[in-house]
Amino acid sequence: MAQSFQTIPTLNGNLWVAQSALYSTNSAIFYDGTSACLIDPGLLPLEIMSILNFLETQHLKPEYILLTHSHWDHIFGPEYFPNARVITHNLFCNELSGEGSERIMNRIQAFDRENQVRRVRSFRIPSPDITFEDSLTIQIGDLSLNMMHAPGHSPDQCVIYERESKILWAADMLSDLEIPYIYHSLKAYQDTLARLDRLEIQQLIPGHGQDTHSRQEIETRFQEDRAYLDELGGLVKKAIQAGKNLEETQQECSRMCYKHQEENARPHQINVENVYKEFLLS
Ligand SMILES: [Zn+2]
Repeated sequence: MAQSFQTIPTLNGNLWVAQSALYSTNSAIFYDGTSACLIDPGLLPLEIMSILNFLETQHLKPEYILLTHSHWDHIFGPEYFPNARVITHNLFCNELSGEGSERIMNRIQAFDRENQVRRVRSFRIPSPDITFEDSLTIQIGDLSLNMMHAPGHSPDQCVIYERESKILWAADMLSDLEIPYIYHSLKAYQDTLARLDRLEIQQLIPGHGQDTHSRQEIETRFQEDRAYLDELGGLVKKAIQAGKNLEETQQECSRMCYKHQEENARPHQINVENVYKEFLLS
């Protein structure tokens, strides 16, 4: 499968973004001088090898690997960079313990079978060397990378903000392809977006899909995702107040309009189910 690399110059040092042939998943290398920091370095073995080759040809030392969250499609790669320190949110390990770890291993084995993937190094569930609660700043040469807790999509999700060039690595949010996937909490998702919207952003890079420099496009992505969450929350709340069951609530929410309606129909259904449960429990 093809791998495409784009180089995106920043004010200090550089950022390389690699987009996987699968799910348009983005991986990154922030680098300055001889230091490098990787973000979600996956998915396919050949793609990981391309990251290794880039580091080698540029004479870069991978010092850190930032894993944005514990979902299976974001945790490949650390086994290829044994000397880099893995950083995650401190809930990462909770998400991948017990049943969570079994679920992930099964999902990855199924993925490898479906895609006929042969791994040079067997996949291992990453074990973080450094974790944090709210935010953590690391230094890569002159680059300052701020990793911030951004729950809602998952309890342990984090975004990365590079202050100098005002780049936001948005993990699984603010995509041009995906609607918000609410696997954790609608309320947390709304709070996270409100917080991120206060940042000055000159470049937005989602975990899946295209990056954008356009101020208008960045604003639109925030507006669309917020509008989707607000409408969904409003409809589910009204349905519960009217004594409707989940099936009837699904029916009510099926008339909502959102981006890439066909591709996102299933995630939308899951969102309704998750928000219905969240509201019932609150
Ligand atoms: Zn995810």
